[in-house]
Amino acid sequence: MSARIRLIVILGALAVALTPSMRAASLHEAFDAQQAYAYTATVAGFGERWPGSPGHKKTEDLIRQVLQKNGAQVDLDSFTAKTPRGPVAVRTLIGKFNVSADPKQDIFVLAGHYDTLFQPGFIGANDGASSTAILLAFADALAHQPTKMQIWLVWTDLEEAIKAFEGDDGLYGSRHLAARLKAEGTSARIRGFFLLDMIGDRDLSVARETGSTRWLQDFIAAAAKQLNYGSSFFQYDTAIIDDHVPFLQIGVPAVDVVDAEYGRMGPQFDSMGEFHHSNTDTMDKVSRRSLEIVGRTILLTVELIDKQMK
Ligand SMILES: [Zn+2]
Repeated sequence: MSARIRLIVILGALAVALTPSMRAASLHEAFDAQQAYAYTATVAGFGERWPGSPGHKKTEDLIRQVLQKNGAQVDLDSFTAKTPRGPVAVRTLIGKFNVSADPKQDIFVLAGHYDTLFQPGFIGANDGASSTAILLAFADALAHQPTKMQIWLVWTDLEEAIKAFEGDDGLYGSRHLAARLKAEGTSARIRGFFLLDMIGDRDLSVARETGSTRWLQDFIAAAAKQLNYGSSFFQYDTAIIDDHVPFLQIGVPAVDVVDAEYGRMGPQFDSMGEFHHSNTDTMDKVSRRSLEIVGRTILLTVELIDKQMK
């Protein structure tokens, strides 16, 4: 074998070792931030994604495609919501990984909404696309990574309020799913629930959401510290109504992992920043680095919790 051929063989072996489908050393190392960013651009590129829109359907198709490719069990929670706009068809998608034969197997849920506001011209690169995309990248990472717990990826639907977050307007999909899991008795097996929302902000700063479960936030803080991402988490407190609330209400420990300051803050802006629920929520406000920080931290947190399970 000439030196040149040997070099080609070595390069070939390296290429195989670096193929993303090969098993990474751990779940958080299997997270591909570049792919998460690409998914964000794809989903934002589908345009408006309110329930019933063509972009919503394209997003559902992409989610199903990625779940099938990665061997997940796919479940759908569909129903018709009564809203101030009249009846709206709601479709929450669930992908289950590492399901064992044990009917009492613990479950951990990672969720995020895939609908966008009913607002002409709103594409929600951060508010909607980033959370949809990070879950897709989680599916890719989970495909070859065993865990003791079942890991569920949940793309909630109709999170956004039709008019305003008052009374029962908003959180339609998560409320329905929480009620169903409680009725089925499954919710008692859920060890934790992380909701990801607006985590692609290039100026990343994840809030300490004050209604969330503190001990679960402490796990996230420990994981972030281990990865040297500590400064991106929990530097300010805020209370937010989001898809984690219906799960807290049925007794599931839950955390809203949310960057609640999107762009400049101030009385002239939305309470969550100048780009929040604005048509300026576009890809230039999102970064690969932020997806990497949140993606790796959340998956390491899942690893830390999984280690503690029987
Ligand atoms: Zn929103």
